[in-house]
Amino acid sequence: MAARSVLSIQYLTFSKRAYSSKVDKNVAFLGLGNMGKYMAANLVKQGFVVRGYDPSAAALAEAAKTGVTGASSIAAAVDGVDAVVSILPSNKVVLDAYLGKDGVVARAPKGALLIDSSTVDPNVPKEIEPVAIKNGVGFIDAPVSGGTMGAQNATLAFMAGGSKENFERSLPMLKAMGAKHFHCGQSGAGQVAKLTNNMLMGITGMATAECMNMGIKMGLDPQVLLDVLNNSSARSWSTEVYCPVPGLVPTAPSSRNYDGGFKNELMVKDLELASGMALGIRSPIPLGAVATQLYRIAQSRGYGQKDFSFIFQLLQEESKQ
Ligand code: NAD
Repeated sequence: MAARSVLSIQYLTFSKRAYSSKVDKNVAFLGLGNMGKYMAANLVKQGFVVRGYDPSAAALAEAAKTGVTGASSIAAAVDGVDAVVSILPSNKVVLDAYLGKDGVVARAPKGALLIDSSTVDPNVPKEIEPVAIKNGVGFIDAPVSGGTMGAQNATLAFMAGGSKENFERSLPMLKAMGAKHFHCGQSGAGQVAKLTNNMLMGITGMATAECMNMGIKMGLDPQVLLDVLNNSSARSWSTEVYCPVPGLVPTAPSSRNYDGGFKNELMVKDLELASGMALGIRSPIPLGAVATQLYRIAQSRGYGQKDFSFIFQLLQEESKQ
């Protein structure tokens, strides 16, 4: 009797493993914008068959050059696929795309795995997941960090929320598009990790710009100041990799006129989402709130398309008064 139950446990374990290592080959990709076009192309490079949908004809045409077959609607894109990957602009677009009448959840085949890599409020995946389960499909939130360069070079960091089984099933696809993959917890946990990271990045970016401006205004040589910071207790990603002062770190956006980095308007979007999350749980964010306001001011002055480290230029301008 004991031997039989051991056998049946082994059988269950095997069948579960066989399911979770199922090879998902046919993938629908929704949102072929600045991030999605590279991510979809990287899936194709790794042997996935990708059918893409984007309301922009130009985006579809560009994706076609990398081997992505175009579809005329979400329903047409997800027809018969094993998995769906999406990276879309906002809460509303994601909710409409997934839960709309002819959306992903209604039209994807039973057993498909849905992976949303958009940056959205953690409540969005929490709203989608139970409807997905009810419809016989799996769902994870898997937002990304690494920007368009990371998307192009398949070096993105993915932070996922959802069941461990669905996360493991998603790994062949996530590995085709990124270099680091974290399972952060249940549905929405990926978004919490992403928004927490970006609020901290916004705060340290602002703090670095503010303090470097002060030191330089006091007469320190900018390079000497940066060397001191990078070898002292104020060292951070902002001082080492993303210095907001032009000309000190050649690969930082500040050294190419603040172009081609993480747009100020995307920083505002993420800080507003993070602020909403913090307010909902009454977690104090005094620094996050100031950072949100400051990057918003940069946006309202017309610098939304510049990298968020442009804030240094704004502070420098103010300190001329
Ligand atoms: P983007 O505006 O360049 O691309 C979004 C694409 O989605 C557009 O091509 C748009 O036409 C398409 N779209 C809109 N509605 C759609 C629908 N219903 N179905 C299919 N496609 C639809 O934006 P992006 O920079 O690629 O960013 C996408 C997401 O990734 C955002 O949530 C953003 O916050 C996040 N993100 C961006 C970066 C970055 O550096 N750009 C980094 C990390 C995360």
